[in-house]
Amino acid sequence: MSATKIIHSIPSDPLTGAISVPVYQTSTFIQDAPGINKGFDYARSNNPTRKVLEDVVAQLEGGHSAFAFATGLAAIDAVLKVLSKGDEIIAVDDIYGGAYRLFTHVYEKLGVSIKYVDTTDPENVANAVSSNTKIIWIESPTNPTLKVTNIEHVARIAKSVNALLVVDNTFASPIAQQPLALGADIVIHSGTKYIGGHSDLVAGLVVTKTVELSEQIKFIQNASGGILGPWDCFLTIRGIETLDLRYRKQCENAVQVAKFLQQCKEVSEVYFPGLESHKNHTIAKKQQQGLFGGIVSFTLKNDTVAAANRFVTSTKCFKLAESLGGVKSLLCHPPQMTHASVPRERRLKAGISDSLIRLSCGIEEAEDLVADLKAALKTIEEPQLTSLSQK
Ligand SMILES: *Cc1c(COP(=O)(O)O)cnc(C)c1O
Repeated sequence: MSATKIIHSIPSDPLTGAISVPVYQTSTFIQDAPGINKGFDYARSNNPTRKVLEDVVAQLEGGHSAFAFATGLAAIDAVLKVLSKGDEIIAVDDIYGGAYRLFTHVYEKLGVSIKYVDTTDPENVANAVSSNTKIIWIESPTNPTLKVTNIEHVARIAKSVNALLVVDNTFASPIAQQPLALGADIVIHSGTKYIGGHSDLVAGLVVTKTVELSEQIKFIQNASGGILGPWDCFLTIRGIETLDLRYRKQCENAVQVAKFLQQCKEVSEVYFPGLESHKNHTIAKKQQQGLFGGIVSFTLKNDTVAAANRFVTSTKCFKLAESLGGVKSLLCHPPQMTHASVPRERRLKAGISDSLIRLSCGIEEAEDLVADLKAALKTIEEPQLTSLSQK
């Protein structure tokens, strides 16, 4: 969807001509007679501000409908509620830490089984599915190691066993990638990240491909009630107005940052789908339309928590905080922060080593971001180098 279309998909107020979307801060709506109303009856079920956001997001992802939730995890939770006891999920192995916690500590207890596989090789998914598989859950690119999965290929596997393919599209954003067009059934977003884009709210979104799925999620949204309030709907809509502009700038900055890190002697691995050395660079380039996102992760030659701590406390532009996708650059140390709830053994298996650092590039000037990283890298000297320089 072009920037022009995105901006003009946001309607002005038909009642007053207000060019920005009004915040309908109300819990209920007066009825003419019981059951006779103007399309709204109670704000958990529907709200005009939320409706605008949901319609805009459905268009952004090319879906039938969209639903706004209080957080990304509330959106994920709503999708999982289509499952019953005995159903099985096949999930990407380095799934978002909070999703891992919800899957393992809430849904497994309720009788849903979960298999984690490396979905970057679709063969692994084909081998893992069974007649109980109801959902295949992927993120592409993943958080934090930026693994890329061939969505079209996995969608075919999902179809073959009648499972739903759910794609967490938070990292790619609808600007780079539209999973529904590639065969997915449901897309979810943490609206907290790129879509909101200003680190000033938490929100979640579910986008559905078919009428049937829309009815199911609508029912769950109303039954469980984890909706996004009108004010945060307004802020999310305002974020969407500049999403295209912000995301493209963040992608450009990330390319510069990744190229810089790649040639630093203190750096061991750089994870970024835009690098030709990335395992699935070709697929990423195709399915993300040449936009590789604003996130770059890397590990240090000095692969210790201590070295990572020195680095993440030394940057000036990159602020140490959880979350990503905002206009201000952020960095975090997933093993101690976003992925602390994932056991170390599983983290290491998913490539999250002790020194892994995740950068979220904001919209500052690339040269300032690079200079910031360069200065912070100076603070971590390898032990051998220190002794050499002392001689
Ligand atoms: C942050 C995030 C979530 C969870 O979203 P919240 O808004 O924090 O609940 C889910 N998936 C991914 C990929 C995320 O980065």
